[in-house]
Amino acid sequence: MNEFELIARLIPLMPSHPGVIVGPGDDCAVIDLGLPDRYLLFKTDAVVAGVHFDAGAPPEKIGHKALARALSDIAAMAGTPDCALVTIGLARGFDAGFVVALYAGLRALALRHHVAIVGGETTTNPERLLLSVSVLGTVPKARCLRRAGARAGDALFVTGELGGALRGRHLEFEPRLAEARWVAERFSVHAMIDLSDGLAEDLRHLLQASGVGAELLGRAIPISQAARQSARRNGPGRTPLRAALSDGEDFELLFAVAAPDAVPLTDAWKRQFPCVKLSCIGRVTAEPGLKLRTSAGLREMTEHGYVHFQEP
Ligand SMILES: [Mg+2]
Repeated sequence: MNEFELIARLIPLMPSHPGVIVGPGDDCAVIDLGLPDRYLLFKTDAVVAGVHFDAGAPPEKIGHKALARALSDIAAMAGTPDCALVTIGLARGFDAGFVVALYAGLRALALRHHVAIVGGETTTNPERLLLSVSVLGTVPKARCLRRAGARAGDALFVTGELGGALRGRHLEFEPRLAEARWVAERFSVHAMIDLSDGLAEDLRHLLQASGVGAELLGRAIPISQAARQSARRNGPGRTPLRAALSDGEDFELLFAVAAPDAVPLTDAWKRQFPCVKLSCIGRVTAEPGLKLRTSAGLREMTEHGYVHFQEP
């Protein structure tokens, strides 16, 4: 049973109430607690040694990544984070200096995004380090972006460059909070998700939630230098394009925008975020399924991304 099959079994067991606007299955839960004009966003995420970082990773970067992942999900709803709780499961014989350095990494990122760390839990996890971060945020009701909502004809955009993130960037990425809010405030964004499991996988999630399909343009996919290097190293079959489609941990934004907004968005983005690439990678189609157009023609996209508990 893989991650998504397990989640599908668990969701029916989760109680709800009328204040739940969006329950399990999106980047964040969305709750109406009666705040005027705003919803509450609620998210938890965890990193585990040997899964999300190597044992030798610098502690500051582990702390950074644990919080950055949760903030990236707040960004995916076009929200603003407010505060966080941190749970740390320490292996036996932990080094206090290591844990303090880990919190220094958490703290630096939290300060940059005005996030208060308001408590948490320390516990023992005998085998390996585990770090879990829960974040509360808010979003204006009218601007809350979900995975559902993409419409046929929408242009698909992605920020940054994709692939090869495990070669370094995954420990250092800055969540695209400002970019997400900026685009949601100014343009007709219909759906958004952050890329954690690879473009091929996360785009499928967005399309499935929206009940639509898409056609991607292979040469428009922004391929990172790290993806090119890893493709070279891994030989034939492992092309840079395939790495950009399938590698996880990009933590970039993927969103669907009304077609008439595509050109004005591209122009305004360059002025607003000159250092962050924005690429129009394809369009949403009424017909379900995911197609990829390359120099060889149009084909069904077979690439997938990262899935936890995947059976070999
Ligand atoms: Mg996400």
